[in-house]
Amino acid sequence: DTTPIRRPSWIRVRAPSGETYEWLQKLMRQKALHTVCEEAGCPNMGECWGSGTATFLMLGDVCTRTCGFCDIKRGKPAVLDFLEPERVAQAVKAMNLKHAVITSVNRDDRRDGGAPIFAMVIQRIREIHPGCSIEVLIPDFKGSAEALRIVMNARPEILNHNVETVPRLFKLVQPQDRYEWARATLTHAKMMDPDVLTKSGIMVGLGETIDEVKAVMEDLRSWGVDILTIGQYLQPSRQHLPISRYYTPEEFEELREFGYQIGFKWVESAPLVRSSYHAAEQVRVLSAV
Ligand code: SF4
Ligand code: SF4
Repeated sequence: DTTPIRRPSWIRVRAPSGETYEWLQKLMRQKALHTVCEEAGCPNMGECWGSGTATFLMLGDVCTRTCGFCDIKRGKPAVLDFLEPERVAQAVKAMNLKHAVITSVNRDDRRDGGAPIFAMVIQRIREIHPGCSIEVLIPDFKGSAEALRIVMNARPEILNHNVETVPRLFKLVQPQDRYEWARATLTHAKMMDPDVLTKSGIMVGLGETIDEVKAVMEDLRSWGVDILTIGQYLQPSRQHLPISRYYTPEEFEELREFGYQIGFKWVESAPLVRSSYHAAEQVRVLSAV
């Protein structure tokens, strides 16, 4: 049976609108920037853009991998644009952000995975908009410590890499990724600079069991991860992986409590939670302790 299951009442998505939203949309086009918010059709756009938060997508807008849940264009990417960090930094300043989230597509066509661009954008934001905390949501760089070092040397406040799903489903969900690379990225980041907060995220509803989710959470803790986000997978279109089931708000609550029990410093777990959701608060609270 391929009939999609009906959306439960707790998945309510508001269409983005309002003056701030329109202003941001213009700013992004003007500066030829891409946001994950738009490209991935994030359900929180109304809320985030309305309050002046956005997640920038760097290294172009075409990805070399083909994850089954993701709505970003795939194929052969353009050459790296070394002016991109400057444009992102200018947008962060124009938006007067307190916390900027920067992510990218995967660039398996490059040996450094595009890591220098992450370092450049961190440095440039520090220069022209000091006081803004920076979260980089990086690809796994195929587990390369060398590429990761380039990013870590620029000292972001938060180093984020999403594990996305349980190891059993990697082949189905993100065929070019390896659990081992996620482990390498997160453990190396913590070893290289223990002061940088590390963060990861899981999508649920792709066919995993709740016990498998808990096992991944325990792995993440053993890799030293500080912050965790858990949200419901929502199928971007009929061409994407189907939703196996909707977790109930109570199940999200159970996972949140479990996360705090095993020692995460911060857990966001709710149906519409996405990687960058409430990120500004995480850095404000956790940097103060
Ligand atoms: Fe953008 Fe992240 Fe907010 Fe979604 S949760 S709209 S990706 S900033
Ligand atoms: Fe999407 Fe990231 Fe997978 Fe590329 S690597 S297809 S951007 S989730």
